Amino acid sequence: MINYATTDIAIVGGGLAGLTLALGLRSLNFKVTLIEAKPLVKPAERHFDSRCLSLSFGTSQILQKLNLWEALVKDASPIKQVHVSDRGHCGMVRLSAEQENIPALGYVIEMPLLAEALWQQLSQSNIEVRSPATVTAIEQTEHHARLTIQQNQSICHLDAKLLICADGAQSGLRKLLGIKAQEYDYQQSAIVANVVLNRAHQNIAYERFTTEGPLAMLPLTGQRSAAVWVLPSAQIPQWMTLSDAQYLVELQRIFGYRLGKLLQVGKREAFPLKRVDTDILTKGHAIIFGSASHHIHPVAGQGFNLTMRDISGLLALLAEVPLKDVAGAYQKSRQRDQQRTISITDGLVKIFSTDALPMVLARNFALQKLERLPMLKAQVGRVMMGLSS
Ligand SMILES: Cc1cc2nc3c(=O)[nH]c(=O)nc-3n(C[C@H](O)[C@H](O)[C@H](O)COP(=O)(O)OP(=O)(O)OC[C@H]3O[C@@H](n4cnc5c(N)ncnc54)[C@H](O)[C@@H]3O)c2cc1C
Repeated sequence: MINYATTDIAIVGGGLAGLTLALGLRSLNFKVTLIEAKPLVKPAERHFDSRCLSLSFGTSQILQKLNLWEALVKDASPIKQVHVSDRGHCGMVRLSAEQENIPALGYVIEMPLLAEALWQQLSQSNIEVRSPATVTAIEQTEHHARLTIQQNQSICHLDAKLLICADGAQSGLRKLLGIKAQEYDYQQSAIVANVVLNRAHQNIAYERFTTEGPLAMLPLTGQRSAAVWVLPSAQIPQWMTLSDAQYLVELQRIFGYRLGKLLQVGKREAFPLKRVDTDILTKGHAIIFGSASHHIHPVAGQGFNLTMRDISGLLALLAEVPLKDVAGAYQKSRQRDQQRTISITDGLVKIFSTDALPMVLARNFALQKLERLPMLKAQVGRVMMGLSS
């Protein structure tokens, strides 16, 4: 016999997008069900190789409003300054939290610690969690979206007045709903690894444009930085097969000594970089959410930060608009910020991933100009800090 249940809001996907949205809904009076295909996360071990996320100052403010920041701040390393430079050229821009009169330009946090803190909060809430459980079909009726869920070898149906599809960049739900996504392969990959330094990083984040590709060194807790190096995908095997000692020597050569001597490097992970996005954010009672609606290049660390602005916008609509009208209103309210962030990120990838001389000269000119024009610099800073939408 097939089991039937109902809910106001079903969130499919317990990645950072689905999880944070579910927690944001705690203060509103809805019955919420979160469905996640993988088993719930075990307590995170503080291990050296965790992948990191840079959270903008704007994101930290949204997390504060959602009463989540307190649980996260102890594991987050503040970014007090950002240095952007072009290796071998004189263009350089510096941003500082002190100048902007804010406590930090952003924060860097290890993803397993962030996920664990969010899951812990969820376990103390009244949100119903189904995990491991997979949504395999969606049927839309006049009043709800009917989900078919496979859990523990059995099938059940869940009728949701609003369905949030937060099931990642390769979203199966997006496909089930017949929504097409645009995909663009940058032919680049990011090699991510954590590095131990011989001196304190002083909470400075560096973005260095090199002939090989952009390299970010993000301050972590302790005397560590996260190295995120974007390279042409064809070169990845050559960099991944280097020994740790050889990789460290190459990183030091490319980055220089602004962070002192690099002493140790952790496990390297390579992420192929693709843009996946869709103009259609809603269909019937469903909203395409998080990476399922915009999976973007990490050059400016904007992916999850954009999702946090989506969360804030959606929560505001849910507090004001009848549930049946939320999907339509969401498309109108969020499309502009999403498209702008995607185009800015794409522009940065194009400008900073080339060593063609005219482009190198133009970007150095732009970096120098930006450094000398405080008003413009402050405006760019506001966009990067997630304070302007
Ligand atoms: C190299 C790299 C660096 C990045 N750095 C940054 C950064 O510095 N700052 C930043 O803001 N962003 C960054 N991002 C982006 C950020 O990682 C994502 O925005 C973030 O992880 C949110 O993902 P998500 O929850 O939307 O999707 P996912 O993490 O993919 O989660 C989707 C979830 O849905 C579940 N699921 C899938 N299908 C089903 C189904 N049918 N039924 C039930 N469950 C299902 C999956 O199991 C999964 O748990 C980076 C991304 C990359 C690749």
